[in-house]
Amino acid sequence: MILKPTSAKFKRAISRLRQMLNSDEELLRASWIRMAHPCGKSGCRCAKGKKYHHINWYLSQSKDGKSRMKSVPREYVKAMKAKTEAYKEARGLLAIIGDEYWNEFSNKQKR
Ligand SMILES: [Zn+2]
Repeated sequence: MILKPTSAKFKRAISRLRQMLNSDEELLRASWIRMAHPCGKSGCRCAKGKKYHHINWYLSQSKDGKSRMKSVPREYVKAMKAKTEAYKEARGLLAIIGDEYWNEFSNKQKR
């Protein structure tokens, strides 16, 4: 009994995942929270209305059933987003791989 899926979908997913893990690509399991707030300076245009609130980015991560948050300095946001996007992609690939194993196993049982 061969338990390894043979579909193109499976091969593509596993090969992309291997490529990611063998490269410098970094994976970060976290999501983003965007918060707008006034800066508190009386001369700033944000003091006059709610329109010009300053944007801060936070990383949010679940740990032992709780969620924790870290503010991310503006200059790091882009690079950190690449890591969370890579994590999302890897997670999607793992889901495909899981499905393909499931399908393969289900097909084998029908025969
Ligand atoms: Zn302001």
